[in-house]
Parts: sequence; structure tokens; C-alpha cells
Amino acid sequence: MSAANYLRALLACAVFGGLLGVSSCAFDGTIKPVAAAPATGSPQTPATSPASADAEDEAAPTAGPEFVSAAKAIREASAVEAAFADIESQRERNNQWLIALNEIPAPPFREAERAADLVRRFETLGVSDVRIDEIGNVIAIRPGTVGQRTVAIVAHMDTVFPADTDVTVHRDGDVFTAPGIGDNTRGLVVMLALADALQKHDISTRDTLMFVGSVGEEGLGDLRGVRHLFGEGKRKIDSFIAIDGGQISRLVYAGVGSNRYRVTFKGPGGHSYGAFGRGHPHQALAAAIAGFTERATPITRSPGARATFSVGMIGGGTSINSIPFESWMEVDMRSTDPRRLDALDAAFKSSIDVALAEENARRTIGDALEVEVEPVGRRPAGQGERTGTLVRRAIAAIELLGGEPELEASSTDANIPIWLGVPAVTIGRGGISRNSHAPDESWEDKDSHLAIQLALLLVLLEAGEG
Ligand SMILES: [Zn+2]
Repeated sequence: MSAANYLRALLACAVFGGLLGVSSCAFDGTIKPVAAAPATGSPQTPATSPASADAEDEAAPTAGPEFVSAAKAIREASAVEAAFADIESQRERNNQWLIALNEIPAPPFREAERAADLVRRFETLGVSDVRIDEIGNVIAIRPGTVGQRTVAIVAHMDTVFPADTDVTVHRDGDVFTAPGIGDNTRGLVVMLALADALQKHDISTRDTLMFVGSVGEEGLGDLRGVRHLFGEGKRKIDSFIAIDGGQISRLVYAGVGSNRYRVTFKGPGGHSYGAFGRGHPHQALAAAIAGFTERATPITRSPGARATFSVGMIGGGTSINSIPFESWMEVDMRSTDPRRLDALDAAFKSSIDVALAEENARRTIGDALEVEVEPVGRRPAGQGERTGTLVRRAIAAIELLGGEPELEASSTDANIPIWLGVPAVTIGRGGISRNSHAPDESWEDKDSHLAIQLALLLVLLEAGEG
């Protein structure tokens, strides 16, 4: 599908899907009817976005007394008490897991080796139903005593680093340095340690737990692993907890959506003097950037959720004395509000159309310029439920462990469920993460047991006693 058709289809889907009330918008922009709400087997439908609000300006919600007392009751149960002590004593074992997992490379689109290792680890812990799905996610199911609902616990396996990166871990006391060590090998360790605590202390839950090592969270992976989890014919997920952040006080409840494009203006090119008058791709590109900046700025400045745009890369050209035959740019737009993202997208599209038409009208000789607009990333936005049950349970659990919850919007695997209206948060992986996405990335084991205890508390609050 062309970029223009994609956008039109998506827009039509968003508008008419809501009117029809019977459809869901797939990521390819098609409209799919939903069967009469079976428990499993149908794709989950996106939520209509709540009214635009500047979430960052609101006061942090509180957990509320019922969730505070529920968290305390769970914390005081004898099995949980024992599990908490055990988690604290397993620091060194967890750090050995961290080193071993990190040293299995997981570059974008090549997570398979790490996935195979993760499967073995879940099996060793005694989680029996473990497999790798069609797209490469590791799925480990721990059945609930009732099992009508499913709570997903998700940590991404992929890193941003290319295949030839040295991922050897250098350890200096409690500081571990290696690409990907914090983001998100440590997230995987928290997930495994949580599964271990539940297994070892025989803590059952009412709802089924679905542990997921996801693929494609980073960059051009474009959340493909979690998109797949919510696709057609998949197990219905009722609640979603991602482990992919820094300290335990940080709670992500909203998804920053992004639209990303690579745009290329193309023409015949030629000699700067001899072919003067031909359509000029750089001039068209410059006009498109100027036009986009002009149209997008009022959108970003109007009151409401944060919205941003950036032309991150530009390139093209042959020499100083040539009219280039192509000129390209890469563009990124973000917001937690899907409507603002749509508005930026529309401003972007019309800026390109106008710039192309103007440059073609200006030329006096030669063929008309053409433009190619290639979508290279599309992460759905979602403003999340700041005062939703899952968020308040997470606040209660963080506070019980001595943290001061900071509610944030970010771009994580949770974007997909938030967009779909499925309760979802991203919690921290603990310790101290430094220089994420950089070759000298490091993670420090400081009070790191708290993140595993937080994951355990939140899962028990959300999935209920078995
Ligand atoms: Zn991450």
C-alpha cells in the first residue's frame, strides 16, 4: 500500500470504524469485523482516545485506601514474606543470569538465539507451557486457578546494537558494563526472577500469567512482537505489565506514539549551469521542511498533550556544481494524543504536496520531480488511564516498597495495549541504569531486589490470589 493510501485508510478506519461500532483498525489500515466477543480468538479493538489533556500537568493520582490495604495484605502473607526474603538473597544468582543473557547477542530482527536460551530458562524454573510464537516471542504460560483472565508480564529481548557489537560484560564490583545490559537484559532477569519466586514458593494466582520475552521493541522493530500478541486468533490479554524502565519509582502509564517517514524527492539532476531550470530536489525538500515547520508549530504550541516533530536526517546530492537527482529526509513526530499525531501527520503530508507542486511549477525545463514517502515506523499513541485500577495498584505497590511514584509517558511495548484500551503499565527494572542505547551502557546493582519484589506484588494484586 502506498503511503498516501495507508494514511487515508488509517484515517477512514479511525473515523468510520467508530461510527460502525463493529470494526477494528489493523495496522495495515484495513477494517476487520469483530466476532461477537468470544473470550479468545479475535483481535482486540483499539480504544477511542480520551479527551485531550496535558497529562504532565496533572497532580499524581493516589493509590486509594483499598489498594493500599490489599497490597499490605499480600505483602504480609507468609509465602510472599518468604519469597521476598528469597529474592533478596538471590542477588548474585541474578547477576550471573544477567551476564549470561547479555552475552547472547540480540540485535534488531535477530533475537532467536536469546529466545532459545530464555525458553530453556523458563523450563528449568518449572514453567511447563513454554514456546516461541510465529514472530519469535517467547511465551511461557502459568495457568491460573480460575484462568478466565490473562495477565501478561513482558520484557523485550532485542537491543538497539548491530550484530557485530561486542556484548561481553565487564564487571567492576556491582557495576556491569556492556551494550544492552540495562535495556533490557536486566528486564529479562526481573521477569525470570519473578517466575522463579512464584514457582519456588508455590504461589498460585487466580488469573493465568503469560510471561513474554518480546521481539522488536526497539527502533525499526516497531513493536512487532507485541503487535503480534494482540493479533487475530491470539489469547485475549486482559492486563499488561511491561518491565522496561529505570528505577522502581518510575511508572509509565501512557504511550508516546510516533509516526516516522523517509521522504525522497527525485528528479533528472544535471549540470548546475548547463541544466539550470530543471526541478531541484533539494529546493523541494527545503520548502517541505520549511512548510512543515510552519504548519506543525501551532499544533505543538496549542494547549493539550505534548506533541513534537523533528527532521532528524537529511541527505543527497552529487557535487557542488550539480543539480542533485535526489534529496531525502527522515522525520519523526510524537505525541501521547492520537489526534495530535494525526494533525502533525496531515501537516507533514500537505507540506510535501505543496513543496512538490511549487518546485515543479518553478522549473522551466526537464521532467517533473517525484516524491516517495515511505513510512518507517508507526507506534500508536495512548493517553492511558492515570486513575485506572492497574495504575493505582502499581502506585500502592511502589509506595509500599518505599518509592515515590512518578507517572510518565514513554514509548514501550505497553503502547500497543494502551492504544487498544487494555490496562497496561511499564514498571522499572531496578538498580541504576546509565547510558542506555550507548556502547558504554552500564547497570548498577543497587537495591535491585526491590524491582523484583515490586513485580511480584503488582502481579499478585492484579492477577488475584489463587
Ligand atoms: Zn527498552
